[in-house]
Amino acid sequence: MKLYNTLTRKKEEFVPLEPGKVKMYVCGPTVYNFIHIGNARPMIVFDTVRRYFEYKGYDVNFVSNFTDVDDKIIRKANEEGVDAAEISARYIAECKKDMEGMNIKPATTHPLATQEIDGMLEMIGTLIEKGYAYAADDGTVYFRTKKFASYGKLSHKNLDDLQAGHREIKVVGSGKEDELDFVLWKPKKEGEPYWESPWCQGRPGWHIECSVMSKKYLGDQIDIHAGGEDLIFPHHENEIAQSEAANGKEFSRYWMHNAFLNIDNRKMSKSEGNFFTVREISEKYDLQVLRFFMLSAHYRSPLNFSASLMESSKNGLDRILTAVERLDELMERVLPSDDMTGEELGLITGRVRELVKKYEASMEDDFNTADAIAALFELVKLCNTEADEQSTRTFLMQLKTTIEDLCQVLGIETKREAQLLNSEIEELIARRQQARKEKNFALADEIRDQLTQMGILLEDTREGVKWKKA
Ligand code: AMP
Ligand code: ZN
Repeated sequence: MKLYNTLTRKKEEFVPLEPGKVKMYVCGPTVYNFIHIGNARPMIVFDTVRRYFEYKGYDVNFVSNFTDVDDKIIRKANEEGVDAAEISARYIAECKKDMEGMNIKPATTHPLATQEIDGMLEMIGTLIEKGYAYAADDGTVYFRTKKFASYGKLSHKNLDDLQAGHREIKVVGSGKEDELDFVLWKPKKEGEPYWESPWCQGRPGWHIECSVMSKKYLGDQIDIHAGGEDLIFPHHENEIAQSEAANGKEFSRYWMHNAFLNIDNRKMSKSEGNFFTVREISEKYDLQVLRFFMLSAHYRSPLNFSASLMESSKNGLDRILTAVERLDELMERVLPSDDMTGEELGLITGRVRELVKKYEASMEDDFNTADAIAALFELVKLCNTEADEQSTRTFLMQLKTTIEDLCQVLGIETKREAQLLNSEIEELIARRQQARKEKNFALADEIRDQLTQMGILLEDTREGVKWKKA
């Protein structure tokens, strides 16, 4: 299996640290709002990477954090007049709902930065002891960037160029030895959450969080570290410096980065207002369509989000689901038969196997999901032309499970019940609430039963009605 390693700028053969196992860390979102569809791209892409490793029989330890202390969270908390913890808890819950909708498997561990402060204090302490970090007079702890000789190896920047860039900006720090030094721990400001530390009451810098959570849940060395390409510098470069300086070992063997998602060919940005949240998209489409759309391009290519591309993804997905449904219908009609005909066996061991190989070869070429999906469509076409009333049940079953297995790797459910729109469910719930208000309990119960039949479980809570898919 080959994957593109940002560190070497080459496609490399994947060799795990431990045979049969993959240790993988994906930088997660900062939780101060609903996630947008740009944030969804790394989630979908790296969940698919994980699923493919699992399909190949690897045991994957997949860690992805939530950054739950940050300036943006604090700002939002102040705007609303609530605690930062309330904001992050709210948006972690919302993010998990969106992830479920996109069929993203829960990580083996989803650590929260605020729960890992002790580990951060420990690693910062080690860095100070080893001379890689120092505390300034105001209690800020900085990483001594130039002491880490290979700084810049991931982003392929050299220290001189970085230094030159900084001279132009003229950053002057208090007690900071060098412009390139970055923050590991910073003093609290009025009204901010803080923790005790040997240097000052304060909070961690962003980069140290990931170094610490990765070490705690995966060990000093991992196989794959991943995230969006904007994280290469400075975030991942700084993670490497911290982890390798503290642990004295190579941090991650492979570094994978997804390209950005644009909207109408412009960079998606909150400040320009041209972004969609995953929740907004879920009002119009099943989130499986979003997932399928994301995988229609190679993860290292920029991808443009547009209504027309979403429509074609919807149609593409529909073609797959319809083919599976047709196989199901045929299976009900045909006579049970254990033995495939010679012609069928020829197809299963010939064309079908070839297409599965083609799919796998695409995935093994740096997770080329676009080509893998093309192979899947060829398989769908084969089903549509070769399966009919004369087929044996065994043949139909083989075709169906092959399509299902390949869809599973992409995180696509082939059952249409899973295709309920959140907006439809919410509309029904609103109608039930209205019926209850009007004391029309018979209608309310009827709607509840209808939802149950759709596989939706309702729960009445103090904050209103919550629902989940059964
Ligand atoms: P953040 O919450 O900004 O730290 O982002 C969480 C993840 O989403 C990171 O891996 C980012 O690189 C990624 N990300 C943010 N915006 C986009 C985008 N427009 N396209 C692709 N990935 C993105
Ligand atoms: Zn990170």
